[in-house]
Amino acid sequence: MIPPTLKICDRVYTVTVQPMGDDATGACCNCRQDITIDPDQHPETQASVLLHEVIEAINASMYLELKHDTIMALEVALYGVLVSNPAWWDEGNNETEKGGSQ
Ligand SMILES: [Zn+2]
Repeated sequence: MIPPTLKICDRVYTVTVQPMGDDATGACCNCRQDITIDPDQHPETQASVLLHEVIEAINASMYLELKHDTIMALEVALYGVLVSNPAWWDEGNNETEKGGSQ
């Protein structure tokens, strides 16, 4: 799922899913702290694009000056690590699970 907000480098970004026109699948504006994701894609692609925009935000926030090829490679590699190793995240979820009233 695409979260409505994301905290990146201590700043909260708004994440909006809306049609973007042209051929863009996602965008990140570091000044306005917002990320836009085009909904006309498979959910897996949307998640990967979101990761891409997060890397873009980190790149801008920390003045890394990464080349776009590098950002795209990090997106593919990190997305692969995230989705291929669910146990990593399941454990964390269980530890931080809050007891809700049901
Ligand atoms: Zn990009």
